[in-house]
Amino acid sequence: MKENSNQKIVTRFAPSPTGFMHVGNVRTAIFAYLWAKRNNGDFILRIEDTDKAREVEGSKEHIVEALKWLKIDWDQGPGVDGPHAPYIQSERLDIYQKYAQILIKKGYAYVDALTEDETEILRQQAESNEKPFLYREHRKESTNDYTGLGQTLRFKIKEIKKTTWVDAVFGNLSAGEEALDDFVLIKADGYPTYNFAHLVDDIEMNVTHVMRGQEFISSTPKYLALYEALEHEPPVFVSMPHILSGNGQKKLGKRDGAKDILDYRTEGYEPDAMFNFLAFLGFNPGGEKEVYTHNELVEVFDITRVQKSGAQFNDEKLNWINKEHIKLMTHIQKIEYVKKCIPDKFTVSDELLVKIEPIVTERIYTWGELKKIFQEGEFDYFFTQIEVDDVSKINWKTQNSETTKKYLTEVFELLNTSFGEFNSAENVKSLIWPLTEKYGRGEVLWPIRYILSGKDKSPDPFVLSYVLGRDEVLKRIEKYL
Ligand code: GLU
Repeated sequence: MKENSNQKIVTRFAPSPTGFMHVGNVRTAIFAYLWAKRNNGDFILRIEDTDKAREVEGSKEHIVEALKWLKIDWDQGPGVDGPHAPYIQSERLDIYQKYAQILIKKGYAYVDALTEDETEILRQQAESNEKPFLYREHRKESTNDYTGLGQTLRFKIKEIKKTTWVDAVFGNLSAGEEALDDFVLIKADGYPTYNFAHLVDDIEMNVTHVMRGQEFISSTPKYLALYEALEHEPPVFVSMPHILSGNGQKKLGKRDGAKDILDYRTEGYEPDAMFNFLAFLGFNPGGEKEVYTHNELVEVFDITRVQKSGAQFNDEKLNWINKEHIKLMTHIQKIEYVKKCIPDKFTVSDELLVKIEPIVTERIYTWGELKKIFQEGEFDYFFTQIEVDDVSKINWKTQNSETTKKYLTEVFELLNTSFGEFNSAENVKSLIWPLTEKYGRGEVLWPIRYILSGKDKSPDPFVLSYVLGRDEVLKRIEKYL
């Protein structure tokens, strides 16, 4: 199709409800969405549910939920409707019949006279002769009129030729004569095939750019023949490169790790980070910047910058991007997330949340990680005093308990009588520091830290004291004493 600057750009995401959505599906949705938004065009969601045997219950809802999570809103489609409703293929059967009649009249479609078993025998024969199976070589047209149910309607390839076309990503492409065959338009169950239905809908819905996985390239000659038969300009084909598994060796498939996109939500990934990460699988706006918000991506997305070589899915990169997106959040937003990760058994004041947010967020890449850390009790000392089962651990190195007690008594007295608030870790440090100069750093600081946290590793005693506040610090030291 020649690009016409006055034409409204229309893209679509057309998933089949045959299971969960994985990163590959979603990346296609993101590219199609971005291209439409970038051009003030329309992004359509169309559900391709004509293969009833492969349909999995709940998938439609799952698709909608996943897109909503990632804030990929559709301008036309289920739930919002639009000028070409309905957007669910099984509700559009009359439209495919209408196109079937057009093709029949033009001599481009015929009722298949071969039974499935007869076709299968021919296919096996070709296979044992190590020859590609071409249906058109065995074409047998029924003399019966096409009435719909119980008959298979096939496309009739009239002109066997070499096909050449341009793909916006893969450039000039071509295929030999063997790429053209009489494919099924409408199955005996009355449902159209993907090959037929998607093309009819792309025409009906004025789709200008067809974005989908590169696995559809091999079928494109058939689609071009169908566009020609229908005397319709084909859209711009924008094929997405494969997504490769972490080691870059093979295509990331459902079976080897391409998991349900909503699992990432469960694991506490930020939707904007996921969107950013997936948009970069096969696309790069150029330059060093890698962290983009949703709206920034709309500004910079460009199909001419989509690469054709496989894009590598790298978990570490995803984690890094997620952390960068967490950094973009406000303190208040982060506090809300932290709050949700803390086990219900603790009641936590807003004041404490404000103080611990930066400390705990610093430690993680995803909120799921934080939830796990909290569940494992690593940060329990923020909420409750941890019983120290082996009191000797409170002593610094070979220091004896008597000495430790002496120092801690002094610390207690000092904190109890000193004025000035615990309004920063620095402030606490300046209170305690003179004692470390008198007795040594580890000698004084290790016991304080250990009593406050009950752990070998934790933030330093100044930070801990500031976070817990004077009363709690005194309470914990007193308990020990
Ligand atoms: N229903 C097809 C699939 O899920 C969509 C391919 C296309 O976008 O045309 O694979």
